[in-house]
Amino acid sequence: MAQFSNIREATYWMDPHPTTKNYANKELPQKTDILIVGSGYTGVVTALQLKKAGADVTLIERGRIGAEASSKNGGMALTGLSVSLYKVMKKFGKEKMVRFFQESLESIDCVEQLIKEGAIDCHFERNGFMEAAFKPSHYDGLKEEQEFLAEYLNHTTHLIPPEKMRDEIGSDFYHGGLVEPLSAGLHPAKYIAGLIRMADAAGADIHEYVEAQKIKKVQGKFKINTSRGPILAERVVVCTNGYTTNLTPWQMRRVVPVESFMIATQELPPETAKALSPNNRMLFDTKRFLFYFRLSPDGKRMLFGGRPKQSWKTTIDKAKIMREDMLCVYPQLEPYTIDYCWFGKVCFTADRFPIIGERDGIAYAMGYCGHGVAMATYLGFKLSDMILGKGLHSAFAEKKSIPIPLYQGKPWFLPFAHYYFRMLDMIQ
Ligand SMILES: Cc1cc2nc3c(=O)[nH]c(=O)nc-3n(C[C@H](O)[C@H](O)[C@H](O)COP(=O)(O)OP(=O)(O)OC[C@H]3O[C@@H](n4cnc5c(N)ncnc54)[C@H](O)[C@@H]3O)c2cc1C
Repeated sequence: MAQFSNIREATYWMDPHPTTKNYANKELPQKTDILIVGSGYTGVVTALQLKKAGADVTLIERGRIGAEASSKNGGMALTGLSVSLYKVMKKFGKEKMVRFFQESLESIDCVEQLIKEGAIDCHFERNGFMEAAFKPSHYDGLKEEQEFLAEYLNHTTHLIPPEKMRDEIGSDFYHGGLVEPLSAGLHPAKYIAGLIRMADAAGADIHEYVEAQKIKKVQGKFKINTSRGPILAERVVVCTNGYTTNLTPWQMRRVVPVESFMIATQELPPETAKALSPNNRMLFDTKRFLFYFRLSPDGKRMLFGGRPKQSWKTTIDKAKIMREDMLCVYPQLEPYTIDYCWFGKVCFTADRFPIIGERDGIAYAMGYCGHGVAMATYLGFKLSDMILGKGLHSAFAEKKSIPIPLYQGKPWFLPFAHYYFRMLDMIQ
């Protein structure tokens, strides 16, 4: 198929990888005050904030630095939660729901603040998002959402009626939308690369291709066996999100990795690209298995993501399926090639709230349920405050984290959940 003649199994955002410095094969310390495992937004922001406060920090990453979900995502820094705020209010009450929402707004402010502080050139722009109604009945849900946000949170959003959708999206696939103006778009790999540069400049001792393999408590300290030898640490922080393993079994039982897949088109003619998203929003829809999509920061390509229907297929076959999905929304993209396809792991929890805290002396934050660009950054601030003895002041920390029933690290239930939720998407 000509549309796949140029395709590469590579992340568009990492062509080339924005971090050029080499953190491999450096001498590992035998001792450190704080050992951080994982070099995504959570780990690197935690390291940066701890270093600023003068702590001795070592960060290890089992692969290439910053190169997992934090470089592979859609670059959408979104307000709100992964769960309906209406349901959150029913379960936790109004006051708590307001706090969760305020923290989601603060999370984007944190991203903006760090980008300013480090002069990170990562195309951060508060373009807002649009949630698009997959079915006519979903537009009623968006109306209710708008009223809810106005009444309980004094938060202004804009409804886009079906007949006005062409002002927002070059597609007739959807049945109206809701625009939220405070959310932002950014280049995720340039953002994490900028954070790594800041943490490095602040003095964090950063190592790539070093895997934490076992954590053992020894006389009130931690001995961490790594692929390059042991390290003794006063404190350990795990920031492994969708890549969490039985290195930390308690956390592993609380988070499920789910693959998310993206494709990028070839560079499009400027007028074709502009018409796809005239206001350059971050776009996603109301389905459970949602499509999320946006223009690349240079405005030249469509980047389209979701979960392929047939998860067992090869990467290239999945790219073909994603392209079919993209063509449902944008049939005008039929003549253009797909240049990149890639995937990474999104990390879900049982109740779709992130988890943060300390267990058996191991500090952690993870489980962002596809909302981690801003929330992982924010909880990195909260984790460092906790470690510095300033307390853990977040509504997310007040929630009990729930283990996933019958789950020991192998998500055997995902294929069933996949068909169940797809069926719901068809009938509801
Ligand atoms: C395709 C895709 C699209 C997404 N789109 C969006 C989006 O548009 N908006 C949004 O808000 N969120 C999105 N997300 C989610 C977002 O990317 C994540 O929530 C966020 O990057 C999590 O950051 P993190 O630092 O917690 O984890 P990660 O960036 O995943 O970092 C964890 C790191 O831990 C390392 N690690 C694991 N185990 C070990 C070990 N034993 N030793 C050493 N290192 C280890 C891993 O190699 C990895 O680098 C998306 C995710 C994916 C995959």
